[in-house]
Amino acid sequence: MIVAIGTIGLDTTYTPTTKVTEVLGGSAAYFSLASSFFHPTGIVGVIGTDFPEKYWKLLDSKVDLRGVQVYNGKSFRYVSRFGFDINTRTTIKTELNVLERFQPILTDEYLSAEYLYLGNIDPDHQLMVLEQAVNPKLIVSDTINFWIDAKREQFMNVIAKSHVLLINNEEMRLLSGVNNLVKCSQIALDWGVNCIVIKKGEHGALLSSNTCMFPSPAYPVAEVVDPTGAGDAFAGGFLGHIARTQAVTEQTLKEAVVYGHVMGSFIVEDFSVNRLLSLSNAEIEERFQEYLAITSLTG
Ligand code: AMP
Repeated sequence: MIVAIGTIGLDTTYTPTTKVTEVLGGSAAYFSLASSFFHPTGIVGVIGTDFPEKYWKLLDSKVDLRGVQVYNGKSFRYVSRFGFDINTRTTIKTELNVLERFQPILTDEYLSAEYLYLGNIDPDHQLMVLEQAVNPKLIVSDTINFWIDAKREQFMNVIAKSHVLLINNEEMRLLSGVNNLVKCSQIALDWGVNCIVIKKGEHGALLSSNTCMFPSPAYPVAEVVDPTGAGDAFAGGFLGHIARTQAVTEQTLKEAVVYGHVMGSFIVEDFSVNRLLSLSNAEIEERFQEYLAITSLTG
């Protein structure tokens, strides 16, 4: 099983043409809906009593929610705006609400999960999950600028305990103080992770370990409607593929990056998690094969 800790919340998003208000979002929501196509996934998270029932039902139909607690109060909310360059996001407001009091608990069913995704949430919560987990096979962690600014040291402790750091280029630069992504990768390996994947939005990703380097383009999408959650959906495809193959090898890591691109490319085609609701496993495999074909030198 994959267990993911992260946010479950309500996003308000402005794009150059549209505004959506209080739609389902959060790092754990995006991640788990994406990873559930590949492998059973459970969430550790918190929502407030105001969380819409329709979103609970939606998540419940695909994901194990036994690790989600309901606190009195308001759910996590996030307001952001994308400019004409749809890859540039400005955060307008982050309302932590019930997250401020959250005490994550790994229920009995989750304690011995083999695969842990420590998604974007307070690093103290990520550490609390790590303290409870029993012998996870693979720990993948991510964060966002907000937490690097607020709790850098705690996130460095998370990295020290992780096998894979999956992070976007801006955040890695902020964390390391270094601009060049090849150098950033080496720095992360020196911090002790076995592997780092730097996500670069529409420009793809760079995977590095001590034995290999794998640069890859993103799947080209003609109409990007809403890039929110692309990083988390990427992580869902990435860890989902590793969990279903039950193997962490150079080959499966590279394939996992491509499944990351595939899931990221689907999520940006519609607002919120909407594209995942109509998605089939056949479409995922078809896009994976198409990706291999269009990136092959030999045609
Ligand atoms: P991504 O676009 O992959 O970086 O993920 C965006 C998701 O992360 C949104 O759905 C937000 O609700 C959530 N999010 C934004 N800021 C934070 C934060 N500071 N902590 C946790 N989750 C966040």
